[in-house]
Amino acid sequence: MLLLPVGAVEPHGPHAPLGTDSIISSAICERAAVTLAGDPAIRPLVLPAISFGVTRYAAAFTGAVTISEATLRTLVVEICSSLRAQGFRHLVIVNSHFEPAQVATLRAAAEDAKAGFLDLTRRVVAEQLTPEFRSGAAHAGRYETSLVLATRPELVEADLMRRLPAYQLNMREAMASGQTDFLAMGMDRAYCGAPAEATADEGEATLTTLTSLLIDLIRAQVASA
Ligand SMILES: [Zn+2]
Repeated sequence: MLLLPVGAVEPHGPHAPLGTDSIISSAICERAAVTLAGDPAIRPLVLPAISFGVTRYAAAFTGAVTISEATLRTLVVEICSSLRAQGFRHLVIVNSHFEPAQVATLRAAAEDAKAGFLDLTRRVVAEQLTPEFRSGAAHAGRYETSLVLATRPELVEADLMRRLPAYQLNMREAMASGQTDFLAMGMDRAYCGAPAEATADEGEATLTTLTSLLIDLIRAQVASA
């Protein structure tokens, strides 16, 4: 079982790293791999992350680096087919960048590559996550910043983080109403939610939930093959 973490390079407020999404995806994969390490039917390995993704919402900010849908899809499909040619049977793609174009591209790539896809934007999944995530304020706020604090705390500007005012926004609704830019959504510092409330403890708890979601998907993939 090979796990492929995917993210994006884009600003996460003034306090969290550009690579937040691939840091989160990698952490989920690593936790699942450690948990399942002794299972001879699974034998999980974590691939190097695809750190670049489709990120146009953040285009107004320095540090947002987008690739096209076609590039991302080709990259994922070619990585998977290269590994399949070496005899690896099971692949799961794990994504933590929720821009609709990214999610749709990875869903299509997973279908092409006959890989599993951990889609954290599904309602049934979101219901298991934190109140802030469910509220739709899912960019560089309490939810994501807590996850980085739990995994790579040295990459968070903690003093700055604690001084940031909360900005409540339902990104799902904003996206559904056709807004395609952080600035149009009022995210003038490239975050929403409440980063000042982030804690490593919450990040640890969320990581446990995300890891069990991935483990369920891995077991289902192996069982259905
Ligand atoms: Zn993010």
